[in-house]
Parts: sequence; C-alpha cells; structure tokens
Amino acid sequence: MEKQRVIRDILHLDLDAFYASVEQLDYPELRGLPVIVGGHPGRGVVCACSYEARRFGVHSAMPMFRALRLCPGAKVRPVRISRYKQISRQVFNVFGRYTDLVEPLSVDEAFLDVTGSRRLFGSARQIAETIRHDIRTDLGLTISAGIAHNKFLAKLASERAKPDGFFEVPDNIDEFLLPLELKCLWGVGPVMLEELRGLGLCTVGDLRKMPLADLKWRFGKAGIQLHRLAHGEDSRPVEPDSVVKSISHEETFDKDIRDRDTIHAALLDLAERVAARLRRTGLSAKTLTLKVRYADFTTVSRSRTFGSGFQQVKQIHRVAMELLQKTEAGAKPVRLLGINLHALNKGLGSQGMLFDEDHDKRSMQLDQTLDLLRARYGEKGICRATLMGWRGGESPQD
Ligand SMILES: [Mg+2]
Repeated sequence: MEKQRVIRDILHLDLDAFYASVEQLDYPELRGLPVIVGGHPGRGVVCACSYEARRFGVHSAMPMFRALRLCPGAKVRPVRISRYKQISRQVFNVFGRYTDLVEPLSVDEAFLDVTGSRRLFGSARQIAETIRHDIRTDLGLTISAGIAHNKFLAKLASERAKPDGFFEVPDNIDEFLLPLELKCLWGVGPVMLEELRGLGLCTVGDLRKMPLADLKWRFGKAGIQLHRLAHGEDSRPVEPDSVVKSISHEETFDKDIRDRDTIHAALLDLAERVAARLRRTGLSAKTLTLKVRYADFTTVSRSRTFGSGFQQVKQIHRVAMELLQKTEAGAKPVRLLGINLHALNKGLGSQGMLFDEDHDKRSMQLDQTLDLLRARYGEKGICRATLMGWRGGESPQD
C-alpha cells in the first residue's frame, strides 16, 4: 500500500510579530517596548503586537480598548500595509536565493521546499540558519523556522521555534508529535475539538490510538485526514505561486556604452544572473533572446533556439555574443542589454552541446561555487575576474 516517496526537506518560515517588528525597525525608540499595531484606540482591533505586549496578554484580533486596559503603556501605531508589503518583497527575495519552490501563505509566512538546494547550500537546517542570518543582517528582522519532511510538521515546528528560533522535527517524529494538543491539527475547528474531547481524546497520542475505521465512521473524509495527521503524514507538495515560463534579466546603463569589452562584460554579468536562476529552478533553456536598446531608444531582439537545453554561464554568454554580432551594438551606443531564456525544461539539458565534456564539468562546478559564495557573501562580494570593477557601481567605461 505504502507508495515509495522521495524524502523532501520542507521549511516553514514565519517572521516574528511582523507588523510590530517593522514599526520597531523604522522607529528605533519603540524597540524593547510593548507595541500594538491596529485601528483607532477606541474602536479598532489589534492587528499585531510585539512580544513585549504579548507578555501582558495582548493578542491579535483583540479589541483595542481591551488591549490597552491590559497594557496601558503600549505604544500604538497605525497599520502601514504598503510598508509591510515592501519589506515582505525583500524577505521573499531572500527566500528566492535558496530555492524557487516558495509557497507564500501570507506577507510574512511561506513554505520552502529545499530538497533540491542541499547540494549547493547544505542541509535543510543549514539553509534555514542561513536564511535567518540573511534576514537579520540584510533587513534587521527576526524570522523563525520549522524544518521537517512535510508541510504539516514544518508548520508545527515553526510554532515551537518562535520567537527568533528554529526547530527541526526529529527523525523519530513521535516524541514531537504525540504530546501535542489536538487543536494544533489542521482542520480541527472548535466543533470537532469538542467532539474529540467528548471521546476522551486530548493529545495527538490519544488520537493515534483510535482505529481508522472508527474515525471514518464518525467523521467521514475528515476522519481519514485526522488519521493521517496523527501519524504525521502529509503528501501535499509545496506549490509556488506561478510556474516559471521564462527567466530574464536586463540592465540599463548609467551612461550609454559602446566599447566592445564593456559590452561583453555586461553580457557576462547578465548571463551569470540568468544562469543562477536556471540552476536554482533546476531548469534548462532551449531559446535565448538578446535584447538591445540603442541610445536613440530603438530596440532590437535576436533569438536562437537549440535542439537541446543549456544551463551554464559560458553557454549562455557564448550564444548571447553570437547574437550580438547580428546587431549594431558597438557601432551604435547601447543604452540597455537584456537576456531572456525561454522554452524551459526540467533538468540539465545536453551539457555537451557547446563544449567538450571536461571543460563543461569544470565550468558547471565554477558556476556552483560562485552561487555558493554569493549566497554567503552577497551579490557584490564575488565575481569573475572579467567583471572586476564592473559590479559595485563603478562605471564600466573608467
Ligand atoms: Mg508571523
């Protein structure tokens, strides 16, 4: 009966007291103080509150007047959704450095499937710690991480981790799962909770002892679900918002460029960026389109399609350079360059297409090493020799 399943590594990441933390970030005088984010003190409800306020018993969805009675010294801040969304985008950008399998649950919470990222970035636990470190140092916020082999357990684990921690569900899941209260289980609302209590069931361990047939008889389909969850089973995949159709990157230059070396270096930079995204998604591309906008704003594009997929920086750069020959770049000053990869497929494609195999392998290893270093030290910290002086804000013409 048991289907053979790939063991996946799932992270559930959840920012701590997100709205309140952003207020404390933007207004340093609020740090260490009880902060309530919400509507009008007389009428509104609490949208979020800092951990300092939670100590007084304040929680979200509570009427403001009650919250302020519990914690009269609280600093009240209005909700600033656009600011939270702005920071949320930066947080999701950090997630995207480590995997493209990101399923957002809200502005401050997501599931990440990092199964395919282990080779580049280490174990699930290391990836969780790296992401937590990135968000702390890049954005000044704390995020908690739950680590498990499925979404259900990962979400339970992040709750255990809060605030500012991580928790990895042990291989023997029972020591973690069985003592939990039934209200922790997905799909168990107040009504079902009452019914389960009526049967004398309080913990997941109690539920585990109920035969499947009994649960089915009492709760129908929901009973089957309960049985699965009581065994820590959840086969739902992490589902990213959208399937990637194409990968592109373009750069508008501060000053128009016409020097060939500079144009080649700029193409290498673009090739690196799109190749890094290809590798993270585990995709290869069959079609490359080069976009060139001249100083007079006219734009041309040139495409080439191959019989099999490609993935490496060198391959992408070489094709882009070939296509460049079919434009007037250089003869005319260039304002913008872009590389778009489409006809994407899962897998590495045919690596031997453009290069001999040995060279190919070394080239792939170099790409991966650069990925690793960039994830560790940031975009600007590391680049190929050809790009020295090109990234980091210096004008390529100098
Ligand atoms: Mg949160």
